[in-house]
Amino acid sequence: MPEQQTGVVVIGAGWAGLAAAKELCDQNVDCCILEGRNRIGGRCWTDTGADGVTPLEWGAAWIHGIKKNPIYDIAKASGVKTKEADYEARTLWKDQPDGSCSQMSLKEADKMWGYLMNGKSGFKKYVEHKQDDVDNDWTLQKTVDAFLNKINATDEQRRFMRYICDAEFEQDMAASLDEISMFWFDSDGEFKGGDVTLANATDSGYSAVLKHYAKDILHCVHCQSKVTAIDYEHDDGVVVTYTTADGASHKIVASAVIVTVPLGVLKANVITFNPPLPSNKQLVIDRMGMGVLNKCMLLFDDDAELPWPADKEWIERIVTGEDPEKPQGLWTEIVCLRPEGGKRILCANTVGHIARKLEAKSNQEIQDSVMSELKTIFAPQDVPEPCQCVITKWGQDEFAYGSFSFNAIGAKHLYHRILNDPVDNKVFFAGEACSEKYFATTHGAYLTGIDAAKNAAKHCGSDKKGPAKLLQKIFG
Ligand SMILES: Cc1cc2nc3c(=O)[nH]c(=O)nc-3n(C[C@H](O)[C@H](O)[C@H](O)COP(=O)(O)OP(=O)(O)OC[C@H]3O[C@@H](n4cnc5c(N)ncnc54)[C@H](O)[C@@H]3O)c2cc1C
Repeated sequence: MPEQQTGVVVIGAGWAGLAAAKELCDQNVDCCILEGRNRIGGRCWTDTGADGVTPLEWGAAWIHGIKKNPIYDIAKASGVKTKEADYEARTLWKDQPDGSCSQMSLKEADKMWGYLMNGKSGFKKYVEHKQDDVDNDWTLQKTVDAFLNKINATDEQRRFMRYICDAEFEQDMAASLDEISMFWFDSDGEFKGGDVTLANATDSGYSAVLKHYAKDILHCVHCQSKVTAIDYEHDDGVVVTYTTADGASHKIVASAVIVTVPLGVLKANVITFNPPLPSNKQLVIDRMGMGVLNKCMLLFDDDAELPWPADKEWIERIVTGEDPEKPQGLWTEIVCLRPEGGKRILCANTVGHIARKLEAKSNQEIQDSVMSELKTIFAPQDVPEPCQCVITKWGQDEFAYGSFSFNAIGAKHLYHRILNDPVDNKVFFAGEACSEKYFATTHGAYLTGIDAAKNAAKHCGSDKKGPAKLLQKIFG
């Protein structure tokens, strides 16, 4: 249990919260982290629980862009090996009218992609033109439909465009086309230098990097401490209420608080703010999008005869679109991972409406549905039964209520900034959704954590150990 008073209470021990606490410690500001889960890392968690060896990333798996990316620098310093992503090591499969599935030539696919996306009358140019009309945002769905009508697209082109939308937009934003803002869908920044993954051996992955990064501040982290209320009506500080695993309720006073809980948790009103948050911030919380990306990870024994194409890491698939039970996006992107010394993993993703709907199903039903898609792709070859299956349900996770934020229809880009704005210079905000440039990423979360800590430290003034008068008032 933390003391009853500290300089700054940080809520959440994901990248944002850990970065904030580390910065506060560096500035000699007393702080503690209240974390609801029984572990650090939040939406970054590498679990080897399935067999005790094979690292499985439940949340983030990639470091996006390694040049000048602080997370990559931290990963390097931690000694965890990284592996370059090879997006070219892919095959594309296409469902045929007779129910079979065959490989499509990548040359043919690239040509179609180039025509639909990059040409003079391609989708990118069409969107640029539409984006001139700042006051008239459309969903990406409406934009794509209008584009296809404008170019008099054939059925084949429409089908291919549906696949592009799945692979290029929906998987990226963890949202469905009819939720995404056309105006803001492509407005985030990125680091250059290609992407890498981390989960290559036992004791690897994002969790190993986090463990190394947080080793000096672990004494500040109090797990199984779920924050339920933040009272900031007092002149000299805040009172934070939280419950521990035994159900007991506690209070702690501080000069400031840094809230790093996911946007999904803010949307669900898990934390009561007193006074309520300013109306512009509440509006932003309501309107911003929280996407859902779920993974179904199938583990196969080394000697299992998996009919996966040699040297390929990705399989993408274009469905016919005629069967409402098998829409584009239902396990149409599958990655093959081969950690050293671990089992082979096939990781299938779903996003948006499909992901949310599937969360209502049992794990066995979800596993069966992935296996059925794999069997269709590889028929007549047989697909062996996996020895284990791990399924995420981020939409139901009470400490996330979603996977990461996206720019939803009705939201504006500056909403990230409004979410990030402090309230009364006592309640500071950080986390991926607060990052205007790098939302939905680990580096975005990290950078907002550092900024919030610098700001909070400045406003603590001489109360770096907490507000003495408020302590007296609350605890007597
Ligand atoms: C499936 C998936 C795939 C992803 N893939 C990538 C990727 O490849 N690359 C990438 O860069 N990013 C990826 N992301 C996004 C990335 O994981 C997040 O942007 C980042 O981890 C968010 O960090 P954070 O500190 O903002 O939030 P979190 O990590 O969610 O930390 C917030 C913390 O607050 C805690 N909390 C919540 N409510 C309370 C409460 N009431 N009281 C106390 N504590 C509370 C949570 O338990 C959590 O630990 C992915 C995310 C998911 C889910």
